Amino acid sequence: MDDTSVNMAGPSPGGESVSVAPRHPEKAHRPDQPVARKPPWIRVKAPGVGQWDETKAIIKDRKLVTVCEEAGCPNIGECWAKRHATFMIMGDICTRACAFCNVRTGLPRHLDESEPERVADAVAKLALAHVVITSVDRDDLADGGAAHFAKVIAAIRSLSPQTTIEVLTPDFLRKQGALETVVAARPDVFNHNLETVPSKYLTVRPGARYFHSVRLLQRVKELDAGMFTKSGIMVGLGEERNEVLQLMDDLRSADVDFLTIGQYLQPTKKHHPVMAFIPPEEFAAYASIARAKGFLLVSASPLTRSSHHAGEDFARLKAAREQSRNPA
Ligand code: SF4
Repeated sequence: MDDTSVNMAGPSPGGESVSVAPRHPEKAHRPDQPVARKPPWIRVKAPGVGQWDETKAIIKDRKLVTVCEEAGCPNIGECWAKRHATFMIMGDICTRACAFCNVRTGLPRHLDESEPERVADAVAKLALAHVVITSVDRDDLADGGAAHFAKVIAAIRSLSPQTTIEVLTPDFLRKQGALETVVAARPDVFNHNLETVPSKYLTVRPGARYFHSVRLLQRVKELDAGMFTKSGIMVGLGEERNEVLQLMDDLRSADVDFLTIGQYLQPTKKHHPVMAFIPPEEFAAYASIARAKGFLLVSASPLTRSSHHAGEDFARLKAAREQSRNPA
């Protein structure tokens, strides 16, 4: 899966896969990495409160997959209590094997043509004002799953025309025309996460190419200058501060509007270790530097994830663009 600045607090609490194969076969023989104890500033709400049960039932009844569960997102207690969920389309098996990600890896199943309608039905039932749709990487498909993304967008638009739609896509590496297909479906926000700084790609995100991902975001703006673009990274993977600042400049060169920065959390002892827990004040410093570099919106905190508070952030993003065009 290519998202994660929605990452990874622990094994999936509710994955529905029936496979008995190891969740990450490619990691099974790796040496164990000690899982560091979380600092006091990383505290999350327990699942099960508010409208949690209703959210869960709506998702399960429609046999949908969420990144909230598959990635073991630490915010699931808070988000599901408010009926917010992020749908992960095209199955629960990813063709990449990123070192930080808890989504199951292996050979995916066939695309389910009924999924767009089921997602749209859940969005309507949850009465979402803003929805985030992400996916596993589908390198096995000729278009990387772009047409399926477009069908999901169309199905949501048809059932819930007022709902704004944010896509969080894979990188569509070597999938000619895929990006154009998704942009033509007119999501309101196009998000693609860089995940980490370029020096960490070989160990953290080996199947991806940093400059391809930056270029993908730049190309969205070339295709549709009005579309909001967004990207996210995790910190605590061993990156240098200056590398993060350089990454911010790279994203601004690609005209990216919105940057999210969150703390990496290690899902299992087979995953990349946490190299540092970044204190909240360092996140605040990153946020103010990023704002100074010209992002319309920045969200940076230990528990920031791509889709956390995405609806509220979309409203702020629109207001920030308005303000930048018509300063008082
Ligand atoms: S932050 Fe995103 S992925 Fe995590 S629980 Fe909330 S909606 Fe789901």
